[in-house]
Amino acid sequence: MAQRTPTKPRLSSRAVLRRVEAGNSALCTGCGEPVKFSAKAQRQQVICNVYVGDRWDRVEHYHDACYEAAGEPYGTAAA
Ligand SMILES: [Zn+2]
Repeated sequence: MAQRTPTKPRLSSRAVLRRVEAGNSALCTGCGEPVKFSAKAQRQQVICNVYVGDRWDRVEHYHDACYEAAGEPYGTAAA
């Protein structure tokens, strides 16, 4: 919740880390696989609000590992 000054501003996009909820069916932007809820594994996903210029453009979902593998394109995901 804390406001932080971005160290690497790239438009106004930002990423947050969230637990994968049941019924989630988004595709991972990194690997193309569904970001699926699992009762066995407490999975985390990264949700990115992507801005183009000053305007919100889209949401991208990543597996947390895929987001790291992608080099954290929208900055470190905030918990
Ligand atoms: Zn993935």
